[in-house]
Amino acid sequence: MLKIYQRVSGRVLLRRFQELMASQWFDQAALEQLQREKLRRLLRYAYRYVPYYRRTFDELGVQPDALADSPAEFRKLTILTKNYVRAHRADFITTEPRTRRTLHEHVTSGSTGEPFAFLEDYNYRDYVTAGIWRHLTWSGWQLGDPQGFLWGEPEGEPFFHRMRAVAMDWMLNRFRVDAYDLSAQNLARLVRRVRRFRPRLLFGYTTALTTFARYVLRNDLTDIRFAAVYTTGETLYPPQRALLERVFHCEVFNRYATVEVGGIACECSEHNGLHVNVESCYTELLKDGHPVPEGGEGELVVTNLDNYGFPLIRYRLADVVRMKPAAHRCSCGRAGPMLASVEGRVVDLFPTVTGGLVWGDLEGSLLGYRGIEQSQVVQKSLDLVIVRLVRGPDFDPQLLNQIEGRIKRMMGAATEVRFEFPDALPMLPSGKFRYAYSEVPREDGS
Ligand SMILES: [Zn+2]
Repeated sequence: MLKIYQRVSGRVLLRRFQELMASQWFDQAALEQLQREKLRRLLRYAYRYVPYYRRTFDELGVQPDALADSPAEFRKLTILTKNYVRAHRADFITTEPRTRRTLHEHVTSGSTGEPFAFLEDYNYRDYVTAGIWRHLTWSGWQLGDPQGFLWGEPEGEPFFHRMRAVAMDWMLNRFRVDAYDLSAQNLARLVRRVRRFRPRLLFGYTTALTTFARYVLRNDLTDIRFAAVYTTGETLYPPQRALLERVFHCEVFNRYATVEVGGIACECSEHNGLHVNVESCYTELLKDGHPVPEGGEGELVVTNLDNYGFPLIRYRLADVVRMKPAAHRCSCGRAGPMLASVEGRVVDLFPTVTGGLVWGDLEGSLLGYRGIEQSQVVQKSLDLVIVRLVRGPDFDPQLLNQIEGRIKRMMGAATEVRFEFPDALPMLPSGKFRYAYSEVPREDGS
């Protein structure tokens, strides 16, 4: 069926999948060469066909080949933010007709601010899908094995795209349940579908998956098990991983991806860091605009190497990550760079009175306390923090003093801490959840 679909649609998913399955075993030098050649091709194309790059390369006096050959030269290019791309969208679209015809609009609601209408060409879509498949094989899954997705349903998609999604789901033996609606009714529906399909794996946003796990635990549904669970879209904290492993009797694979640049990295079966998707992403780790020393923490800036129709070169994701030292070798045998961890989003960092920045989600540690099912920390102003807790049956009120003390140590003794106890915390329209956010305005607009 897939072969017929490809012939009709002009897509080359299977070829891309085979390509990625082979290149994952390349040695370091071969991977670097493959990445540099893809970067060179993209830079040449962008200079030739994409107005923004034509203009900025000329203004900076840089040549596409020189940019591909020298990281120092490459760093001369301005880092792109989501706000900038949103405001100058037309300048990022290719003028070359053949690729332009394959562009498809993907609107993200985003965790903050306005929606972002991002464009993807066939080449990008094929690599993104093939890249997901490759990551799924790392848990033993094979093309055609049943799979479940707890996912944000795309809004406002044209009828043709919705029909295609239904056809693809059938062809690929997968089902989807909306991650935004986590009512008992929708979770019961998910249970019924799991029983019918018996998916080998479940893929979804971290909080949606842990909410499902708690539902399964509460209702003692011991037959709801998977070989693997893939978490994505949000930070995965150790207590959440432990919960998923325990309830679903599965291995948990942390996958890091965004709509704008696709799959960035994923854990292999060693569960000791995430392999960067070097065939599709050229990554830089920066702090205050400078490369971070080995093993350090910084912001990830990504160049996707496949989306010619709407190239994003040096795109700032505003996520803080930590890299493994370059000499680190994973025992699975795959070479190439690895992320040690994805710490969280820059917007989850709270500015303090003294000019510092601290993780507003307390590094997920609230989720490690007994009796706290879900938590959200909101910084209203420099001296007011609201903590929302969804309490379980074994909640101990003594905890509140501990949490308050901890926030005051972090944010300053004069900080006021207010608690709220909702029955549930809402998901974003995308189906993702935010553990923490600050309403204090930032200079950089993030
Ligand atoms: Zn590995």
